[in-house]
Amino acid sequence: MNKMYDILIVGGGPAGLSSLIYAVRGGIEALLIEDNPYGCGQISLTEQVDNYPGLNGINGFDLGDRFIEHATSLGGNIKKGKVVKIAKEDDHFITETDKGDVYESKTLIYALGTHHRLLNIEGEEKFKGHGVSYCATCDATFFKDKTVAVVGGGDTALSDAFVLSKLSKKVYVIHRRDVFRASKSLVDKCALKDNIEFVFNTVPLRIEGDKSVKRIVTSTLTLDASGVFVAVGEIPNSMLLEGLADLDNSSHVITNEDMETKTPGLFVVGDVRSKRLRQVVTAVSDGAIASTYAIEKYC
Ligand SMILES: Cc1cc2nc3c(=O)[nH]c(=O)nc-3n(C[C@H](O)[C@H](O)[C@H](O)COP(=O)(O)OP(=O)(O)OC[C@H]3O[C@@H](n4cnc5c(N)ncnc54)[C@H](O)[C@@H]3O)c2cc1C
Repeated sequence: MNKMYDILIVGGGPAGLSSLIYAVRGGIEALLIEDNPYGCGQISLTEQVDNYPGLNGINGFDLGDRFIEHATSLGGNIKKGKVVKIAKEDDHFITETDKGDVYESKTLIYALGTHHRLLNIEGEEKFKGHGVSYCATCDATFFKDKTVAVVGGGDTALSDAFVLSKLSKKVYVIHRRDVFRASKSLVDKCALKDNIEFVFNTVPLRIEGDKSVKRIVTSTLTLDASGVFVAVGEIPNSMLLEGLADLDNSSHVITNEDMETKTPGLFVVGDVRSKRLRQVVTAVSDGAIASTYAIEKYC
């Protein structure tokens, strides 16, 4: 017979780790399952975090490391695994991983975050890992002294452009509208860099090259570039909750103020949840609330 956990947390980003910290401090049996052996979710991909209270300017990977260290130093239990199935039977949850491990729990905190939206244009799939990238912080170093293009107009696109401008010769930022969605401070920072050029009102059509990327063709022009960084938004990882939770129009999960879904005992936290602001500070807040109420109501 499987051990019955009080709380099973799936996803080890800021939301999941905050849930684990509050669960451990609540003195109950908790376990967190995380797929990626490195880092702490999306924040580990960013170079600098300027808006997490008390840690101004901290590197994203270091911030994630502190969350992991904090949770494990309190005795938080983390197992590696990719969760592929979640079901509720009678009054408890059954969670399965791709390795066939099965976990049972009284409550479940779902913190699987989001994944990158694709451009879905010719050449994107072919050149993935050969010039097409979704993470400037991870791959900038491969484009030293080269020309690259970033596609997108939000905070991620502009922050990618800034990171790339430190190493690359030239950075184009391609955006389909005539104004960026990104924060003004980020846009201003990029505008001051001589090697960043904004290209507005144009839509990428295809990525061309031979063994690796050579150019990107848009609806209005062709730009020579060795790298194309795609930053056109995120899609919530809500796919494992079919039938268990309601989703909004953009497939984010609807919860009440206590982070609980329509299924009693199922809590959803972080970027995968339907809410206005998706940041570390709101992710860790969600995690704290979910564990607190999970313990209060079910453990
Ligand atoms: C480039 C970039 C820069 C950013 N900069 C900032 C910033 O400066 N300040 C700020 O506050 N926020 C920033 N953010 C946003 C911030 O990173 C997110 O709001 C935060 O990481 C959300 O945390 P989360 O735990 O909900 O999700 P995530 O961080 O996405 O974590 C989800 C976790 O679930 C795991 N997972 C997914 N599927 C499975 C599965 N099937 N089984 C097991 N595990 C799984 C993933 O590996 C991941 O570790 C930035 C985001 C990006 C992409």
